Amino acid sequence: MQLRLHDTLTRTKRLFEPIDVTRVRMYVCGPTVYDFAHVGNARPVIVFDVLFRLLRYLYEPERVIYVRNITDVDDKINARAAQEYPGLPLNDAIRRVTEATDRQFHQDVAALNCLPPTIEPRATEHIDEMKALIERLIADGNAYVAADHVLFAVATMPDYGKLSGRSLDEMLAGARVEVAPFKRDPMDFVLWKPSKPEEPAWPSPAGIAVPGRPGWHIECSAMAWKHLGETFDIHGGGIDLVFPHHENEIAQSRCTFHTSLMAKTWMHNGFLQVEGEKMAKSAGNFITIRELLNEWPGDVIRFQMLMTQYRQPIDWTRAATDQAAVALDGFQQVVTTAQAREGRVSTAVLEALADDLNTPQAIAELHRLAAEARKGNFHAACDLKSTCRFLGINLTGVSLQDIRKRRHGDLDEAKIQSLIDARAKARASKDFAESDRIRDELAAMGIVLKDSKEGTTWEVAP
Ligand SMILES: [Zn+2]
Repeated sequence: MQLRLHDTLTRTKRLFEPIDVTRVRMYVCGPTVYDFAHVGNARPVIVFDVLFRLLRYLYEPERVIYVRNITDVDDKINARAAQEYPGLPLNDAIRRVTEATDRQFHQDVAALNCLPPTIEPRATEHIDEMKALIERLIADGNAYVAADHVLFAVATMPDYGKLSGRSLDEMLAGARVEVAPFKRDPMDFVLWKPSKPEEPAWPSPAGIAVPGRPGWHIECSAMAWKHLGETFDIHGGGIDLVFPHHENEIAQSRCTFHTSLMAKTWMHNGFLQVEGEKMAKSAGNFITIRELLNEWPGDVIRFQMLMTQYRQPIDWTRAATDQAAVALDGFQQVVTTAQAREGRVSTAVLEALADDLNTPQAIAELHRLAAEARKGNFHAACDLKSTCRFLGINLTGVSLQDIRKRRHGDLDEAKIQSLIDARAKARASKDFAESDRIRDELAAMGIVLKDSKEGTTWEVAP
């Protein structure tokens, strides 16, 4: 099986060949831990988890190294910490914000059935590596010190801008660059900057006397270098990171190591909108992963995300969530009814994934397996179960009844059963007024009764 992936840098879908088949290396930009992750943040986490699973299958699990960083030093974190804990020293407040957010993020992505990456480096634990890169860039003339900042001199890299394919004017507009009098060129970006009193600070590189902190871009170059080397196989992230973040990572890493590439393949997932609108707190359509997980099993959210190929824009709609839930309810019924055992991971699904993660095609194959299984094909049911599991879909707790029950929240099942028993007694003594009254009482609780020869069962109303 040949893996083909779309590379943003060359704008082509190409055969993927690892630099070293015994160490297949992938870096994905992770979260900045200052707030609940939203559904847009879930997209790269799920997409690259599917790729991680596929690479582990193709190259052996222990030969694949997946690094996803945690950005724990950032102006947004400082601002949030000052706002939430005004009485605390800033660094203590920052620790509270980053630790709590980090914990939430890991709970969220575990509930979405994402495997932990091989390494999850933190920016604040790689300050020495960042400073080492900065010193080398200054020594080679790619960076300079000005007003206690270190800036990357974009003019020293002739093919800067190749990843995004933008002109210098477009990049200037897109970066909303800070016009600072000390910059040689408005495109030059910050590698290191002085910290205000109270802000997180480390001894500065390049003989700068005042303590400071790194810019955002340098951390990924430093962590990728530390854990994956000077060049590696795959670098991923959301399409919003292409410029300036990834463009700047490339500039830093290639100029430091004098290489023609930072990563062999650059992969970017498309934008996510909600009900046809750009997601924004001001628009009131900002959905966190946590809110979705309160209402739906992680399987459903994950499946919905995979219904769209990763490079396409995705419109996150309630209708699509319902569609995902109905599909998984069907799969769970098929697997349970057939008493399916472990089967094989479907070759057709693997082939779809190997074609630049064509997950809609993979899902079409799952539906085909489910249809076969409904016709009584036991092996198809087993393969469906195993293939879903391979994709990170566990098919547990995903029946529509389970979903309605969890949404209902405070179901008192003992009380429901005692009302059903009382109704059965009333019916046996032909007290139909009482039995109707009990039925209505249950209906008011959102419970629907189903009478049959075997007795009465109940369901949560849709
Ligand atoms: Zn990054």
